[in-house]
Amino acid sequence: MIPVNSVLQVGHFPEIMQAEIDRRLSPVRHLNLDAPIPSGNFEAILIRSNTKLPQSLIQQIPSIRLVATCGVGYDNLPLPYLKANNIKASNTPGVLNDAVCELAIGMMLSLMRRIPESQEYVKSSAWSKAPFKLTTTLAGKRVGIAGMGRIGQDLAQRLEPFKVKIAYTGPSPKKVPYTYYQSIQELAKASDVLFLACPATSKTEKLVNAKVLDALGPSGYLINIARGSVVDEVALLDALQHNQIAGAALDVFDNEPNPNSAFFSLNNVLLTPHIGSATSETRIAMTNLAVDNLEAFFTQQPLPSEVNN
Ligand code: NAP
Repeated sequence: MIPVNSVLQVGHFPEIMQAEIDRRLSPVRHLNLDAPIPSGNFEAILIRSNTKLPQSLIQQIPSIRLVATCGVGYDNLPLPYLKANNIKASNTPGVLNDAVCELAIGMMLSLMRRIPESQEYVKSSAWSKAPFKLTTTLAGKRVGIAGMGRIGQDLAQRLEPFKVKIAYTGPSPKKVPYTYYQSIQELAKASDVLFLACPATSKTEKLVNAKVLDALGPSGYLINIARGSVVDEVALLDALQHNQIAGAALDVFDNEPNPNSAFFSLNNVLLTPHIGSATSETRIAMTNLAVDNLEAFFTQQPLPSEVNN
């Protein structure tokens, strides 16, 4: 269904995803972006959301009409160029909500109950000398979500049984039973736990700055499962170093996969290596949705998940 030599795979995919891709099509692989582009009659590009697609690469292949990215975030794509040149883009929304929300909830509980530290306490036999320190209960707390989209709404539903009060912010109110705040600063002030679930755009860059962290306050927790760019990392490090917030759980960073090492020496953080969607089931589902988009494109069907920006 997909013509031979018509899809250029840009960058590496994990083994399980590559196997799924190869089961359904035979893309020409362009793994090293510094190497010359292989020859072919490419009409589409397949890429992961953690691989940045250089505009210069697409400029060299004027026949490209679709970029299918594997991931819900598409901040890796040069969208203005794609739009200006009538090149479609697709992403993989929805199929990763479960994995991302499960991680987000796990990060929140691990941070607040200090689960990694308490495991070390047992392993180091410190427990035999004194009981572990007291932590804090989630029930009764106020939870804010910046970005009440697919992941934000799924997260809110999963939070309800934890007996918390839920509020959110975003460009406009949604039809959801939670309190809406117009600004993230107001939301932070009204939150004990602040989740970030918005996209990385020019408008969300450093959305969480020193003022927002100050509003969150010394008993407030920040959980970032969105993108590193949404947080001013310098301000966050400063707030963590001076206990101006209680803690932060971060799955995403400015400089991945080499985040600022100043985070490593802090004892009020929980750090994970951008693993929101990193389960086998989810990665297979994401790959299949990306390939479904390619198939729809080549059979002139509507794309199942076109990016409309
Ligand atoms: P989505 O359905 O598009 O939801 C994003 C929400 O953010 C929308 O409701 C949007 O509002 C809102 N938003 C836009 N600008 C905002 C702002 N300035 N302040 C607050 N909210 C704002 O996307 P999704 O599927 O939920 O995914 C959200 C993001 O999560 C992705 O873009 C991606 O970067 C990140 N993510 C991370 C991982 C990970 O591995 N950690 C995995 C998956 C996704 P409108 O509806 O009004 O536009």
